[in-house]
Amino acid sequence: MNSTKLQHLFWLCCLCSAFDSCIRRTPDKFPSHDSRLPTYPRVYYLPSRQYHHYYLEFDVKHGTRGIMSMAGFTENQIMVREAIGRICSEFPNTYWQERDQTETDPKDFHAALAKDGWLGIALPESLGGAGLGISEATMMMQAITESGAGMAGAQSVHANVYATQPLAAFASQPQLETAIPNVVSGKWRVCFGVTEPDAGLDTLSLSTTATKRKDGSYSITGKKIWITCAQVAAKMVLLARTAPDSLSLFFIHLDRDKPGLDIRRIKKMGGRAVDANEVFFDDYRVPSSSLIGDEGNGFKMILHGMNAERCLLAGEALGLGYAALAKAATYAKERVVFRRPIGMNQSVAHPLADAYMRLEAAKLATYHAARLYDASRGGDGSVSVHDVAVAANSAKYLAAEAAFAACERAVLAHGGMGYAVEYDVERWFRESLVPRIAPVSREMILNFISEKVLKLPRSY
Ligand SMILES: Cc1cc2nc3c(=O)[nH]c(=O)nc-3n(C[C@H](O)[C@H](O)[C@H](O)COP(=O)(O)OP(=O)(O)OC[C@H]3O[C@@H](n4cnc5c(N)ncnc54)[C@H](O)[C@@H]3O)c2cc1C
Repeated sequence: MNSTKLQHLFWLCCLCSAFDSCIRRTPDKFPSHDSRLPTYPRVYYLPSRQYHHYYLEFDVKHGTRGIMSMAGFTENQIMVREAIGRICSEFPNTYWQERDQTETDPKDFHAALAKDGWLGIALPESLGGAGLGISEATMMMQAITESGAGMAGAQSVHANVYATQPLAAFASQPQLETAIPNVVSGKWRVCFGVTEPDAGLDTLSLSTTATKRKDGSYSITGKKIWITCAQVAAKMVLLARTAPDSLSLFFIHLDRDKPGLDIRRIKKMGGRAVDANEVFFDDYRVPSSSLIGDEGNGFKMILHGMNAERCLLAGEALGLGYAALAKAATYAKERVVFRRPIGMNQSVAHPLADAYMRLEAAKLATYHAARLYDASRGGDGSVSVHDVAVAANSAKYLAAEAAFAACERAVLAHGGMGYAVEYDVERWFRESLVPRIAPVSREMILNFISEKVLKLPRSY
């Protein structure tokens, strides 16, 4: 990995923030509380500029960020966390509340990460990426959700970071030279087209076809569902059937003006800032150069990136859980009922302490899995793909459950205010269902561990 390049990015961010430190806000600039809610703890409605140091200041002055123990992380991971935190500080919770309520894409957030080169964090340096590992990319995704951006923030860039991994590994040199720089620069947003309504988790039964025509181009017919960011993406990494017994991977252009393509937004529970879609293909034509690698190897290529994605998702879940827990702890200190802070009641404090330990345990599992993943790519053979798969699936499961528990406790600790948009925990609670469902459900992970580790009979 290129630590020089990372340090360069980091110090660039530091310089920018040093310039802005002259407008650094002080605690007494905060309203002590929102005037409409006189007996409740503070809710901050700040103009965006003054929010510049939100991420770091909150940690120091209010204890509402950074409750995760940072012991044991590498210097690179800490640098990534701080640099991403600085960028995220430009996008306060009010930004994400508004995007969620209006279902508006956070394109300026995507652009801010792209501007500093973060979309290429795990892509090869030779093509403009940072050449870092999944250990650092997981930290980046965690820092995004933990900043308050939640799953919406993570999902706005997730496919760029993850779905491009099979491309980097298997695309031809001309494909790489065209695609990767445009992805890293943010010019092309990417979506990931695997799930189908009639196949569900049984990926091998996908029915969308890509039929080769006489001129070498492909005709795509079928439907995909739950495709995140398809409304705003220029490209899709698509898994489609090229023969009755084989799946192939494509990197296709989504040309909305061409016949045969229809993208319809799905109304959903959380993460509403980013779109999720049904995508219908009806004899949609793509050039032969859209095929990645050889026909028939698509499933193998997708598998290549799956363990990495589990790690990223686990990191995203952790960030969500820590954000919610931090906010709940602050509220429990400040909210006074029966003449004492509600956090003095063990029935409030203990579930929060329990949620913290669950998150910390899941954190160990997550960064252990990410480390194994990176080590397995080193090539000395000491870490098998099986080791990585067990660790990554376990981490995704544990982090998703820990995040859900933390978000639920955060809502309950806020009482009625847990239901109010301005306290954010309701938004994170809604979003905390996503890591439990996608990209693989908790039931399928339990199936995997039962079969592959405990050697129990396959149940499906
Ligand atoms: C917000 C969101 C964003 C998403 N983004 C994308 C995306 O960008 N690209 C993409 O391709 N997909 C995306 N997905 C799809 C996601 O990966 C799938 O929803 C997920 O894999 C589950 O598939 P399914 O919904 O078809 O569930 P189903 O396969 O219909 O399963 C339904 C339920 O049955 C259970 N079940 C099924 N079979 C078994 C079994 N054998 N044993 C035990 N339990 C079983 C499952 O665990 C689940 O609880 C997204 C989903 C969501 C919610």
